[in-house]
Amino acid sequence: MHTLPPATPELMALERRLQRERAARKEAEQLLTERSRALYDANQELEKLLLQAESTRKRLQLALWASGEAIWEWQAETDQLEAEYFDPRTQDVSSVRQSLLDAVAQIHAEDTPAVWIAWNAHLFGKTETLDVQFRVRVRGEWRWQRMRGRALSRSPEGIATRITGTRKDVSGLRAREESLRLLAAAFANTSDAMMVLSSDLTILQVNDALLALSGYNASDLRGAHPGKLLRRAGEDGDIDWSALLAESRWRGEWHCLHAQQHSIPVEISISTLRDDNDELSHVVVALHDISERHRAAERLAHMARQDALTHLPNRLHLQELLTQSLQRRQPDQVVDVLFIDLDGFKEINDSLGHDAGDALLIAVAERLQFCLRHADQLARWGGDEFVILLAAHYEPDAGENMAHHVLTALNLPFRVAGHEVTITPSIGISSAPDHGDDPYVLLRHADAAMYAAKRGGRNRYAMYAPNMTAHTLERVQRVNALRRAIDNGELSYVLQPKVRLRDRRIIGAEMLMRWQSESLGRVSPASFIPLAEEHGLIVPIGRWLMQQAADVLQHWAGMPVPGAAALSLAVNLSAHQLRDDRLLEPFLPAGPHCRQLELEVTESALLDDAELAAARLDALRCTGLSVALDDFGTGFSSLSYLKALPLDHVKIDRSFIVDVEGTRRGRALLASIISLCRSLGFLTTAEGVETAAQLAIVEELGVDQVQGYFFSPPLPLTAFDALVQDGLPPAAGVTT
Ligand code: C2E
Ligand code: CA
Ligand code: CA
Repeated sequence: MHTLPPATPELMALERRLQRERAARKEAEQLLTERSRALYDANQELEKLLLQAESTRKRLQLALWASGEAIWEWQAETDQLEAEYFDPRTQDVSSVRQSLLDAVAQIHAEDTPAVWIAWNAHLFGKTETLDVQFRVRVRGEWRWQRMRGRALSRSPEGIATRITGTRKDVSGLRAREESLRLLAAAFANTSDAMMVLSSDLTILQVNDALLALSGYNASDLRGAHPGKLLRRAGEDGDIDWSALLAESRWRGEWHCLHAQQHSIPVEISISTLRDDNDELSHVVVALHDISERHRAAERLAHMARQDALTHLPNRLHLQELLTQSLQRRQPDQVVDVLFIDLDGFKEINDSLGHDAGDALLIAVAERLQFCLRHADQLARWGGDEFVILLAAHYEPDAGENMAHHVLTALNLPFRVAGHEVTITPSIGISSAPDHGDDPYVLLRHADAAMYAAKRGGRNRYAMYAPNMTAHTLERVQRVNALRRAIDNGELSYVLQPKVRLRDRRIIGAEMLMRWQSESLGRVSPASFIPLAEEHGLIVPIGRWLMQQAADVLQHWAGMPVPGAAALSLAVNLSAHQLRDDRLLEPFLPAGPHCRQLELEVTESALLDDAELAAARLDALRCTGLSVALDDFGTGFSSLSYLKALPLDHVKIDRSFIVDVEGTRRGRALLASIISLCRSLGFLTTAEGVETAAQLAIVEELGVDQVQGYFFSPPLPLTAFDALVQDGLPPAAGVTT
């Protein structure tokens, strides 16, 4: 039988040890499992952290890229400045490490002191933050940087041990700031008054010039509606802003209401500013004071309606008065026109001299004035001709009665320049409505009656009768002759040089028509042009002349002109020709370019049908030609009207030049005309300059060009060409 050995003490000890070891192993195994789990968890955690770090890095990279800033950190311990920035080339965040001194060494010498001061101030805790701007060289160019930072830790003595912050390139920003500063200075200092409005039309900003112009304080205006300051001319002065703001730019003439309630004429220009979404953001309004221009225009308008010698209304003014009077006439009222011409005035003028002649005219004017009744008007028609306009009345023979008074008054002798002089009148009378209801017709009829009075033996009056205008036979002959003139080759032209005063160069010519009639001899354009206009011949004659003009320009294109740009050629145009669609045919498309062509039009041609004329001229100007207003000053109406016309050039009528020597008034008148034209931006030519003295005056007054006998009369083409080649003679004060 097998029995268990007896438990010896050794065996029992072994048994216990075994049991302990087993327990320890188990415990170790358990621990191991736990540890490896922890390790696994830790690993997971680490990976997560690494991922987070990567995304933080990416975010930083993005932030740096977006802000254009670099991040830097300085540590006192190493005295190293480390910067991280986004490198656009590698698309990555790069870093640079250098000593503080090395870093500062790269800064523009002018900026270094300021940088040191700011740095030390922050280093020693005197400033809350560091904020400096300086220049460094980047790819060969100085660029502005802004560096900001803040100490992260300080020593017990308060000295920074770690500073960190950002750095950014601010060159673009500084340039914008600079230009803003300049703009602001310009806004503040410009002589034109300006204001800036918000999109809902309240005033945000005004400049000093605006305050000076309006008499307000800035605080009166800020926040106000611009209607407080601006009014349209006319009764209902309100401005339709919404219509204006639909355009990006607008110009016009308004009134500025002064704080003291008077109004100042201003030229306005409005510009609208829009944001990125094309919404209205701001409105800029500039005001330019044009009161001086207005005053000059008024002076001019007044002077231009008055005769210089007698101070009576002149021809222009009379026509207006007559027009008004005819418009106001009641159906059974009569308006009379007396046309008065002094018999033999020319002889007196020639024998006693011009001064005596002038004195006599003044004396005649005074006596005529005495004959007038309350509402009648006396005007000087020109030379020795006067017109009396009898206010609308009901008496059938008021005109004849007046003629009797005039005859009696003038038949008494005059004393002029120590001489006793007798002068008699010839008077023609026409009456509305019997002899017409149109001012021009009435005047023409009164004039015809005056001639009848002369033919009847002078010192008498004649009533108009229809047979008086029938010098008709002669007229018919003339018209027929003119009709044949083109075919007979009787028309020709001459060229009168236009001289630019700046360098006394001939820069072109005006083409003037000539008619050498076989039957009538030489006829002046001043008489055949109106005839052609009346009888519908001006269009064919004008076409003929345009063809000649095209030929001349073609010929000049092949001719060398010493030292000058191409010569320009001006052609006179009548109202009817404006309506001629074929006017420019010789120029298009194969002919010479229109750029050298100028059309001269008179104001009366434009006034005929102003809208059509302006539209036609606009269209013509598109071809490149320019437009001159001829005979300026002899009949203009309102200035704003002139301004609206498509004009480049104004030719000041000869009558203003004739007057300019000697009389202060003539000179003042010319001066205002010129300054007016210049303020409107027109080129100016003085017509009919005959003497060196006239030239000196127009030159001093700032005229651009001169045309007149002083430099040259109108010339045939070959003579003109020769003059251009040889230059003006030295007598004409010329340099070549
Ligand atoms: P306008 O257009 O005012 O032409 C200037 C006139 O003044 C020309 O007279 C010219 O010879 C003259 N003149 C130029 N310089 C002086 C000067 O220093 N002193 C003086 N006293 N006169 C000077 P012209 O050639 O007898 O022409 C008279 C008018 O006939 C022109 O005046 C123009 O209105 C008209 N005319 C001439 N040719 C044409 C034409 O082809 N077509 C049209 N529609 N009209 C024409
Ligand atoms: Ca002309
Ligand atoms: Ca003229």
